[in-house]
Amino acid sequence: MKAARFYRVGDPLRVEEVDIPTISPEEVLVKIKVCGICRIDIHFIDEGLLKPGKIPQIMGHEAAGDIVEVGKDVSDLIVGDRVLIHFYFSCGDCYYCRRGRESLCVSPNFQQFGFTVDGGYAEYAKAPGRSIVKLPPEVPYEAGILGDAGSTAFHAVREVGKVRIGDIVVIMGCGGVGLCTLQMAKLNGARVIAVDINDRKLEIGKSLGGDCTINSLTNNLSEEIRKLVGDRGVDLVFEFVGVKKTMYNSLKILARGGKLIFIGYSDDKLLLDPRKLIVGERQILGSRASSKHETIEVVELLREGKFRLNPLISHRIPLPNINDGLELVRKGEAIRAVVIPT
Ligand SMILES: [Zn+2]
Ligand SMILES: [Zn+2]
Repeated sequence: MKAARFYRVGDPLRVEEVDIPTISPEEVLVKIKVCGICRIDIHFIDEGLLKPGKIPQIMGHEAAGDIVEVGKDVSDLIVGDRVLIHFYFSCGDCYYCRRGRESLCVSPNFQQFGFTVDGGYAEYAKAPGRSIVKLPPEVPYEAGILGDAGSTAFHAVREVGKVRIGDIVVIMGCGGVGLCTLQMAKLNGARVIAVDINDRKLEIGKSLGGDCTINSLTNNLSEEIRKLVGDRGVDLVFEFVGVKKTMYNSLKILARGGKLIFIGYSDDKLLLDPRKLIVGERQILGSRASSKHETIEVVELLREGKFRLNPLISHRIPLPNINDGLELVRKGEAIRAVVIPT
């Protein structure tokens, strides 16, 4: 089969012929139909901020397709099922998994699809049966991106941010996860301000229900926020960029009692005076991925029409051209580009 493999930081992925994976009794084999290209891939390929589990490694962690083979110990899936691969292969049994916090799994067997084991930039991929989410017939394969982008947003808004009706929320960076978070915050009754440096992304943010938009390249962000909401500031900032400028901007606009939630990051560090947190009881939190159960809920929201996927898919790239897709992500031109293996 064809697959795109990572060899070295700074090198393009190599599209080459490799063996179709063989499955264990607990695994299934999926013929991949779609795999989303995510900014996290850039942390591996360009920056070396994250390290793959092995070299060479097939990247790609937002995949969906059809089951073509089922291990003998997998009882609830059959050949032909349309599925999404939930990319955190948690154990289900450690301290954190037992409390439903599967993205914090500490089992030595914990793996991440496309990070520590081979992923979805390929014609076929294997995954544990327990990490599979079935797609209802009315949900397209492109829902594969919800395995990370959608469910990470769901987790950040519901579990970490605990967004409430009337909260003023800023989305700092309107890529795939940012625009999913915008939609989740709206579902929770928040007033949402979308911030980006790209007007096209801001327009999409508006079309998905954003109440206001600010281009932070051509405007002074804190002044614009003051015009919109007054001196108090905003209740939550979801930070998807994580460079020095956006981090300090986020802190600046945070109201008393507000929460700054990190989802995106770079190599930049944040230095702050703790009094800023103490005096205003502000909180800085991290939000990491999601559980399989949360992904199931996001797929259900999509099926019910409460969540929109189509406007998020900006480019469809054949697998042999995957490096063109990564280039779109680097330049900030893609909302979500997806790879089509065949
Ligand atoms: Zn992703
Ligand atoms: Zn676990």
